[in-house]
Amino acid sequence: MEHFRIVIIGGGPIGIACGLEAQKRGLSYVILEKGPIVNSLFNYPINMQFFSSSEKLEIDGIPFISKEAKPKRNEALEYYRRIVTSNALNIRLFEKVQSVEKSEDKFSILSSKQKYTADKVIVATGFYDLPNPLGVPGEDLPKVSHYYKDPHFFASQKLAIIGASNSAIDAALECYRKGAEVSLIIRGPEVGQRVKYWVRPDIINRIEEGSIKAYYNSTVKEIKNSEISIATSGGEMTIENDFVLALTGYMPNFEFLRQLGIELSDDEKLLPQYDPETMETNIAGLYLAGVICGGMETHKWFIENSRVHAQMIMDSILKNQATTSNIS
Ligand SMILES: Cc1cc2nc3c(=O)[nH]c(=O)nc-3n(C[C@H](O)[C@H](O)[C@H](O)COP(=O)(O)OP(=O)(O)OC[C@H]3O[C@@H](n4cnc5c(N)ncnc54)[C@H](O)[C@@H]3O)c2cc1C
Repeated sequence: MEHFRIVIIGGGPIGIACGLEAQKRGLSYVILEKGPIVNSLFNYPINMQFFSSSEKLEIDGIPFISKEAKPKRNEALEYYRRIVTSNALNIRLFEKVQSVEKSEDKFSILSSKQKYTADKVIVATGFYDLPNPLGVPGEDLPKVSHYYKDPHFFASQKLAIIGASNSAIDAALECYRKGAEVSLIIRGPEVGQRVKYWVRPDIINRIEEGSIKAYYNSTVKEIKNSEISIATSGGEMTIENDFVLALTGYMPNFEFLRQLGIELSDDEKLLPQYDPETMETNIAGLYLAGVICGGMETHKWFIENSRVHAQMIMDSILKNQATTSNIS
């Protein structure tokens, strides 16, 4: 069984930042990633543009050069991939962590490929794996997806997009411009206030001119093969439909956190317990890094404000090491 000082679960931007920081400080580590490098970013819409400018997405001060101030998905894939390969980071891809157990001072980690032991574990698993379900009949039909990839697929189709945040609005505009007949189903009275400031006027104008149909104060009740039922403020109605994109956000894998013994707040935010100075959880030696630490408040954490977790965690690990060797 292989032993590492640190096992990092998740090879997203922040897991990679943690690996890089561990390497710089001479700590043995492995990053275990269930998909390709930066799997979440890989699964983003192909034309996606970050709302952050490229320098805000940099890790360890390594320059991120992009064509425009705000980089596109493929530029970010290039950037993070080059960090992994140029620094020869110890990352194992397509290897999913299934369980983590602690006994005495050591962790046992079981992945889809092998077992490891580690002194410390960092959970950097993000929040993009589990969509917030609609919980309506028909959600499991093949025409319904919680992930949007490419507008070409929806050309000349009646497409309902559920949601009013950045993902939903970007998809609505792109698909409309590739010839889809787009209906937006919006739970609240308006397009989300957090929609990128340069995109919001575009969608509002398209709605006002009638190019995109918006149903405000509306929720989907049922999805059928060729129609959907929605409850609107004016009563229930049925609209013809070929495809549904339910872009209602994503959530961290709380089951995994619970299985690790991490305590969650007992309100609807389900905030995991950790020390904001060190990122150490209620389990000694088990750390959180990246957007996973936001619980259901996924909009509060980004690459921008969580990339510092890597330094904070390594500082804490080295400080503990110094304290332990002083005592012994
Ligand atoms: C559409 C969209 C646009 C965004 N735009 C921006 C932006 O402009 N600026 C910004 O700062 N942030 C942005 N964010 C937020 C941020 O990019 C992402 O949340 C970012 O990916 C967070 O990095 P992370 O490393 O914490 O998590 P992730 O990138 O989600 O990485 C987690 C990794 O863990 C892996 N994983 C999960 N479970 C396991 C397991 N059991 N075993 C092994 N591996 C596992 C996943 O495959 C994944 O690769 C955006 C998010 C979305 C969804």
